[in-house]
Formats: sequence, structure tokens, C-alpha cells
Amino acid sequence: MKPNCTKEQLSDVIQMIKSAGLKADVSSGEYQTVIGIIGDEKRIDFEKIKLMGGVYDALRIQVPYRLISRSYIPKDVVVRVRDVPIGKDNPPVYMCGPCSVESYEQLYRIARQIKAVGAHILRGGAYKPRTSVHSFQGLGLEGLKHLKSVGKDLDMPTITEVRSEFDVKTVAKYADVLQIGARNMFNQDLIEEAAKTGKPILFKRSFAAQIDEYLSFGERIVASKNRNLILCERGIMPLGGSFKTQTRFTLDLNAVPVLRKETPFPVITDPSHGTGRRDLVLPMSRGAIATGAHGLMVEVHDRPQEALSDAAQAISPAQLGKIIRVCDLLYKTISESESPFSSDVVDGNGQQPKS
Ligand code: PEP
Ligand code: MN
Repeated sequence: MKPNCTKEQLSDVIQMIKSAGLKADVSSGEYQTVIGIIGDEKRIDFEKIKLMGGVYDALRIQVPYRLISRSYIPKDVVVRVRDVPIGKDNPPVYMCGPCSVESYEQLYRIARQIKAVGAHILRGGAYKPRTSVHSFQGLGLEGLKHLKSVGKDLDMPTITEVRSEFDVKTVAKYADVLQIGARNMFNQDLIEEAAKTGKPILFKRSFAAQIDEYLSFGERIVASKNRNLILCERGIMPLGGSFKTQTRFTLDLNAVPVLRKETPFPVITDPSHGTGRRDLVLPMSRGAIATGAHGLMVEVHDRPQEALSDAAQAISPAQLGKIIRVCDLLYKTISESESPFSSDVVDGNGQQPKS
């Protein structure tokens, strides 16, 4: 709609959409209102809509993830986790902590140290996705309780993974952000149940998902009326079954600017799972911020030799401090430069795409 369209003009258009048997999803921005038409496009005449009063333009969005596409929401979305803003041009947000919550004491010790070096959000797994049934499976409810108490005692928002749709309500009672892990990116029931809580969702890309598939599943969160979507690139499988790499996964840093171009939602990266190696967490963190990530998820342990999961990728709180210093500096330098993290990526002919 045009920026100055009237309420009557808006409701006329909505009425026209509804009378064609389609759904109208109204998104009111600071300057403009956008109406998403959901359903079979053949039921509506776009040329007629264009002629209606107050209409700025009508266009077909071809991508399967239209509700989270930039053509639908042109401006960057900021997701707030308590008082921490994530996305747009806000400084990088650091979500850090151990892979697994092991005890109140372990989590408190680590949380205190990472808060001191600048971490914003405390992470810790309670329901762990593990390949082997013989590995540590996480403390479950007890872990959630520790996470909530440590978060409260140190005044830090918290994030933890929810693995099953049956645990959503419980996890939502204890954590500020619900994480949907790489293994569950395709789990529709879990995604929808988690979205319904209205809480921010950290939605990780599966190691076997193309970006279109990833965004199509992310679309379900917004289609379930939850706009608090945070995307996370956490590493993909190397191409070709027998192609051996020296890392656990391949952190796909191409995905960062691609996701930022495709969607206005915040994008963070996870260099810990993306590499599986503590010596690579710093360089890949720098890479993530340099390519436009809005934040990082980093696994930290003060006694990696005692860690019950993912010890090889755990960095120390001091190393995290260094990462935060370097990444903040990098962010500052790039955002002060001529063209900071623009999502208007120049196209192949050197042309700025039309807005
Ligand atoms: C995690 O963050 O602890 C985790 C299991 O991540 P992913 O789903 O990316 O493997
Ligand atoms: Mn882990």
C-alpha cells in the first residue's frame, strides 16, 4: 500500500482478497503496510488490485518462503531477547556457554566468566541430540532448572534446544529462546509447536539442507504467527560421500550474505559445530562477522577435559573474550566503512537491484 493510504482503502483491498477466497496477511511497518495474499494466485487479478485506491504495487512472490522474503518484508527485522536486540545494524550478539548443562556449579562457573568477557545470552543443552545412545543424553528437566537459576542469578537471558514437540511447553517455561537444532530442521510438528509459544526461535540450518528448503521450513514459524525468528548457519556436510575434510562440518559462510539478501530476519552462525575444532573457532568467527552475521553461538567450557559433550570444540572463557574483542572491532570497522553489511547486494552486472 502507499505510505499515506487510508484505513478504508486498506480494508477495501483486504475485503477484495477475502472475497476471492484467499487469506490476507497484513504487515504494518513503520512507513508502509504490506498485504500478503496467501493461496492460489489464479483466483485473483493482479492488474485489478493495482488499480485500487491506495495500492502502491502488486507483485507475485515466486519463492516458496514468501512470508519471510525481502519482497514481503523489505526492512531488517530486529528480534529482542529480553533487552538484547538481534539483527539489523545492532552490534553482534554472543550466545555462549557449554554444549551441555552438567550441573548448577559447572554452568554458574562458566556463565560468570563468559558474562565478564561480554557474552549476552547463556546457552546450555538439556535435551541433547546424540548419535549414540551410549553418549551423555543431557540432564533434561534438571538441566533446564539449572539454566533458569543460573540465568536468573547472573541476569542473563538463556537459550536451550527443544528436541521434541512434547517438551515445548516445559522448555518454554524455563528458557528465553527455544533452539531448534540441525537434526530437527525438517520436523514440522516441533517447529509449529515451538512457534506457537511466541518465544524467539533460534532455527538452525540442517547440515543436509539447501537454503531454499531451510527457508521454507523457517517460513512455518512466521506462518504460525511468530515473527521472532533467528536463523543460524551451523555447518553443512561436505559434498560427495567420500570427500574427506579436516573439520566436523563445513561452515557455509556463503549462506550468511545469501540469507541476509533473501530474508530480513537476523542471521547468526555457529563456528563451534561448524568446525568441531577449538583452534578454528576464532578465524571462523571473524569470517562470520565479516560476512554480515548478526551474532555468534559459541561453545565454551572452562574444563574441556571434563566436558560431557563436544569437548574438542570447546574454547575457554579467555578465548571467548578474545573472539568478542576482535569481532566487535571488526563489526565497528565494517559498519563505519562506506557500504556496511548491505543486504542490497550488487548483482552480477554491478547494478544495485531495484528497491
Ligand atoms: C547444539 O547447539 O548443542 C547443537 C546440538 O547444535 P546442532 O543442532 O547445530 O548440531
Ligand atoms: Mn554441542
